[in-house]
Amino acid sequence: MPPAHPFDDDKLREECGVFGLIGSADAANFVALGLHALQHRGQEAGGIVSYEPSQGFNSARRFGYVRDNFTSQSLMQTLPGSLAIGHVRYSTSGSKGPTQIRDVQPFFGEFSMGGAAIAHNGNITNADALRRELIERGSIFQSSSDSECIIHLMARSLQRDIPSRMEDALRRVEGAFSVVAMTRTKLIGVRDPLGVRPLVLGRVGDAWALASETCALDIIGAEYVREIEPGEMVVINEKDGVQSHRPFRPQRPRFCIFEHVYFSRPDSIIGSRSVYETRRQIGVELAKEAPVDADLVCPVPDSGTPAAIGFAHQSGIPYGMGIVRNQYMGRTFIEPTEQIRNMGVRLKLNVNRALIEGKRVILVDDSVVRGTTSRKIKEMILDAGAAEVHFRIASPPTAWPCFYGVDTPQREKLLAATMSEDEMREHLQVDSLRFISLDGLYRAVGEAKGRDAASPQYCDACFSGEYPVEPSDQIEKGFQLKTAAE
Ligand code: SF4
Repeated sequence: MPPAHPFDDDKLREECGVFGLIGSADAANFVALGLHALQHRGQEAGGIVSYEPSQGFNSARRFGYVRDNFTSQSLMQTLPGSLAIGHVRYSTSGSKGPTQIRDVQPFFGEFSMGGAAIAHNGNITNADALRRELIERGSIFQSSSDSECIIHLMARSLQRDIPSRMEDALRRVEGAFSVVAMTRTKLIGVRDPLGVRPLVLGRVGDAWALASETCALDIIGAEYVREIEPGEMVVINEKDGVQSHRPFRPQRPRFCIFEHVYFSRPDSIIGSRSVYETRRQIGVELAKEAPVDADLVCPVPDSGTPAAIGFAHQSGIPYGMGIVRNQYMGRTFIEPTEQIRNMGVRLKLNVNRALIEGKRVILVDDSVVRGTTSRKIKEMILDAGAAEVHFRIASPPTAWPCFYGVDTPQREKLLAATMSEDEMREHLQVDSLRFISLDGLYRAVGEAKGRDAASPQYCDACFSGEYPVEPSDQIEKGFQLKTAAE
């Protein structure tokens, strides 16, 4: 299993990526490539299920990177067929305990009309209540994953085909889900009514693909056809192609705005917008909202880079790679000793002293979560002789946890939950600290008039505390929603 990097606990982490393909021999090989392109969405474990008529369903689930498991010819030969789905997963240890191999998706269920496998990106906010009910009625759970509820709900449905059973099951589920599923003959893709997590459709030759992001279509040479729309279910078979269903009551979509800021790869397209261009535009907005007199704009690599380019362009202040990322920071050096672990950020990032010395530096980062990394980076920059350090952050203060498929620390661990912007500046001991406003972020993603406060166009709960779906399991455990006074 890849070790947690000391840098990682100061970022929000997307928990999953999904991919599926129908209509090409050796579909599992395409799925492995797609999952490799989605590895940034989950590095802890991955799994693939395939179907071939003479051999039935086959599956492989492994801890570790896709490239270390699903490149082996002997393993891939066990996954034959022209229909396959896969999943990559990020460790949620800490919040739900260490992952067991039985928690690794796709999950499989055998029904009277045949088998089905599902891979889920997102988080079911009423999973605890559903699990209790299902166990009371006789379901036997194999994993600790919320996603397994979908299989058990499907088993209880009285519908006569698997897509209809899946519709039944998903109508009981609250929260965020982008699901890729398969039967013996069909590839199925579904997005929750708010469309919180992404899912796209692609075409390569005669085959169809479903993926969390368009970068996973690019790697297999597939053409991006369109997004699966919020609340849509597509059922794809080799003979009839794509059939679209609308199983849910229509609602105003609330896509995760943080996908634009950080989670998605910069070479992906969301809607019709390039993620890279949106991030560059965030930097432009940030420079308009929070200008500062300085000599150099530096990104905190890699995720701060497009916003830093936009900031430099708008402000006219030169852009430079004042911090260089060690691209080959892998597993080798991290685990052995406490002393090496304590070197923390320095293992991954190094300061380009020749560029920094004597300069007033603007550091552009994507977010501040606990603030531990920001403090260390500031120290590195000052050690290298910077005259001043100014932080500019490409997202609003992250003051609330996400319950829709992103691993977030508890609320009290989020720096912005307990401190004002001024207090955070003092805590980080920097010359200035500014975050982009929520309105500025909305403008950067293409909403010219900013955020519609009466009916927000996106999910922005981790910034605003306004949850589009009530996190009922969390409330039961004592989580306090935002009060009118906050
Ligand atoms: S709470 Fe934040 S990270 Fe979670 S879905 Fe909403 S915008 Fe995205």
